[in-house]
Amino acid sequence: MSGGGKKGKGGRKVRVEFRRNRGKRTRRNDLTRDVGRDGDLDRFAQGERVSGKGELSRRRTVVVAEGDDGTPLRDIDTDGLTLGLVVSAVGLHAFVEPFVEDADGRVVPTTGETYECTVRRVLRTLARDGRNAVVTGDHVLVRVTAPAQGDDPPQAVIERVEPRRGVISRLHHNREHVIAANVDQAAIVTAAADPPLKPGLIDRFVASCERNRVRPLIVINKVDLVPRDRRGGLAEIALRYHRLGYPVVPASVPDGRGVDRLRRLLAGRVTVFSGQSGVGKSSLLNAVHDGLGLKTSEVSGVTGKGTHTTRRAVAMPLPPDARVIDTPGIRQFDLWGEDAGELEAYFVEFRPFIPHCRFPDCTHTHETGCAVKQAVEDGLIAKPRYESYVRMFEGDD
Ligand code: GDP
Ligand code: ZN
Repeated sequence: MSGGGKKGKGGRKVRVEFRRNRGKRTRRNDLTRDVGRDGDLDRFAQGERVSGKGELSRRRTVVVAEGDDGTPLRDIDTDGLTLGLVVSAVGLHAFVEPFVEDADGRVVPTTGETYECTVRRVLRTLARDGRNAVVTGDHVLVRVTAPAQGDDPPQAVIERVEPRRGVISRLHHNREHVIAANVDQAAIVTAAADPPLKPGLIDRFVASCERNRVRPLIVINKVDLVPRDRRGGLAEIALRYHRLGYPVVPASVPDGRGVDRLRRLLAGRVTVFSGQSGVGKSSLLNAVHDGLGLKTSEVSGVTGKGTHTTRRAVAMPLPPDARVIDTPGIRQFDLWGEDAGELEAYFVEFRPFIPHCRFPDCTHTHETGCAVKQAVEDGLIAKPRYESYVRMFEGDD
């Protein structure tokens, strides 16, 4: 793969501070010796003199290109590097699967191997927030440093993270925590019953998607648990989101309802999957692709207690051409942060009314002359949606 020409918009200068002594690497072998040849960043990082100030200066200005999301893109020689997809990442370690992009820009896995990777420290320095340096779903360039040996997977070093699009993130104390990158859509799985349907949760999810500019997909599973003559409430909820332009998929695993439609909606896309435990996420994904063999609660226990539940996001392939990012750590897809002031923009049906509020800084909660509240009264905005807005605005859970 040659990504040398892929530099994003213009270049900018970034002050990068390196630690001179990075300590001993735990895994070092002969194949890592040419690791610095792609540029002088690494040599500098290892303490080489690069400025007139000699060894006292540990800073250097490097010119880097910038990705679409403003993250600096490391300008390196991409010869000998392999394009890979991060299937899971924690700190400076990640598992990466090599892939090529087809004509439509879709990810096609190549070798079927998984590389165990470390991340160049400089990437952490270049990232706006070091914790987000490499995340699940990232497209990266890796340098293979050791082939597979016995049970050990091949080893590699992540040299560059390609610009991200469709990031799922959570705001926490005003810092962005990126959960997954290069996401096309996000699905929330809810249950019609057992556990009971909570529209407030869907509203939080949808608002988070709007903030992340990722298409939401709402699945209402376990429809079989609600008798036919008592599905009026369900229909009303489904219609509410359908009217807002969000796809709603009523589903039921035992009778296969909604499974084909879900499969079509997932095809060729990367989808973050989320929802409370016990709603049937694993069962549904198993139904969509019967070779998947995900453990369901019957096996692992509904609470997940006593089982190994990982908090990291994992990108798994859903053959033939879909990928699902499972986020066990965010059971309720509670990506909502503290940016209450922007909240109104994420309730799409409020948008036409907001300019008509008497006060330009109207929060649509206590003000007089509020066009949003008037629209709720007139039946133009669904009351439960407005109530969700108020709860989120006030920071209630
Ligand atoms: P997850 O925690 O979201 O992955 O949920 P699971 O897939 O493990 O399912 C939780 C429980 O709900 C299991 O006992 C499933 O058999 C059951 N279940 C899943 N989908 C359905 C459904 O559509 N209808 C009914 N009645 N039960 C379901
Ligand atoms: Zn208002």
